[in-house]
Amino acid sequence: MMTDEQYMKMALQEAQNAFDEGEIPVGAIIVCQGRVLSKAHNLTERLHDFTAHAEMLAFTPHRSIWGTSTSISVRFMLP
Ligand SMILES: [Zn+2]
Repeated sequence: MMTDEQYMKMALQEAQNAFDEGEIPVGAIIVCQGRVLSKAHNLTERLHDFTAHAEMLAFTPHRSIWGTSTSISVRFMLP
C-alpha cells in the first residue's frame, strides 16, 4: 500500500498536469482501501464549465463505488 505522502504526490502531479494545460492547478485522487479509484485535475478552462473542478471530475465516474463504501479518503491539492 502506498503512503499518504505518495498519494499526495499523485494529487500534486494531477495539479501539475492542470497547470501544464493552462488550467487552474488543482488535482484530486480518490483512494479506497489502498486502491486509487480515480484521478482528475481541473478542466474549467477547456470545458468552459466553472463546475469542472478536479474533485468533482474525480467523483463522477465512481459514484456507484464510493456511495457504498465507508473508508474513502479524498485528497485535495489546493494552489
Ligand atoms: Zn473545487
